[in-house]
Amino acid sequence: MIVENLQNIENRIQEACKRAGRKRDEVTLIAVSKTKPVEMLQEVYMEGIRDFGENKVQELCQKIEVLPENINWHMIGHLQTNKVKYIVGKTRLIHSVDSLKLAEEIQRLAEKRDVDVDILVEVNIANEESKFGISKEKVIDLVQAISRLTRVHIKGLMTIAPLVNNPEDNRLFFRGIKELSVDIKLQNIDNVSMDVLSMGMTGDYEVAIEEGATMVRVGTGIFGERNYNI
Ligand SMILES: *Cc1c(COP(=O)(O)O)cnc(C)c1O
Repeated sequence: MIVENLQNIENRIQEACKRAGRKRDEVTLIAVSKTKPVEMLQEVYMEGIRDFGENKVQELCQKIEVLPENINWHMIGHLQTNKVKYIVGKTRLIHSVDSLKLAEEIQRLAEKRDVDVDILVEVNIANEESKFGISKEKVIDLVQAISRLTRVHIKGLMTIAPLVNNPEDNRLFFRGIKELSVDIKLQNIDNVSMDVLSMGMTGDYEVAIEEGATMVRVGTGIFGERNYNI
């Protein structure tokens, strides 16, 4: 099942890139493996996928321990300040930074461990109460503040769009994130680049790619439905 799912998603990514006049290698597929056993991740790894996303620190650390070293691990879930110590130095990218306090804790540990940490700033694009992320209006101030942290490097923006039945309903949100990233880029802030846009999940990754996503985070589409009761 996983192999067919991946093939199907790969085809759709290629089609979306074509429609948007983009190259396939501009988009990275992140396999979101939360709640899934390592055997399933191994199966996906065998198909050539090297980017995996997890949303819980403990689960992320357990999987890092047992899976191949050349995996790029993406922390995509809300990160509490007191858990930063478990992941600094282990991730390719932390997608979910939405406060200066959190970025400062990452900086503190990065200095201590003599590592650099790449991050994205999470934007709550639809201003949903239930979601983490900073509001669009406050993003630039936060980016400027974080840019002064020498070991923390902003690479772009991340958003979790609303859960919708029709992916077209999220198109303007994705477009808004892209526009925001262009605005920030134009400011030429030291230690900030805007090359990464992490947006689009199983229900809407094709629209996200059409609107400029460089990373799509797909869980259910690859691994099937999640069961949180086990
Ligand atoms: C779970 C999760 C995903 C993947 O969601 P699917 O709808 O299963 O593709 C993507 N991004 C984040 C932040 C998630 O927590």
